[in-house]
Amino acid sequence: MAEKSLFEKICDREIPAEIIYEDELCLCFKDISPQAPTHLLVIPKERINRLAEATSDHQNLLGHLFATVPHIARQEGFLESGFRCVINSGPDGGETVPHLHIHLLAGRKLEWPPG
Ligand code: AMP
Repeated sequence: MAEKSLFEKICDREIPAEIIYEDELCLCFKDISPQAPTHLLVIPKERINRLAEATSDHQNLLGHLFATVPHIARQEGFLESGFRCVINSGPDGGETVPHLHIHLLAGRKLEWPPG
């Protein structure tokens, strides 16, 4: 069996994280190195290494992840003020953890374009 990803270990409570939301398909926890006053990661419990490896088989799961974002934004109080979702995929995308995750950034005015 393939070695667990860092985020699978967080899902399995083998590595601590500040978990703020969980359901049967996904987990949301605070990023350990926040780039905004609020910086959360939303991950599927099922491992997909990166967006580049997602297929039509993952359609429902991907839809669930994105549909969960406004729920988390409401729960955490930044639904109205706004937020940004980022997915880094592969080396040029800046991916460092090979387990698909949505960065959810909020709490300050974010600039565009990103670096
Ligand atoms: P990426 O660079 O897009 O792959 O994002 C990986 C993110 O995971 C980075 O923002 C890291 O700060 C974050 N990260 C790494 N290790 C942990 C951890 N143990 N708990 C929470 N976030 C983490």
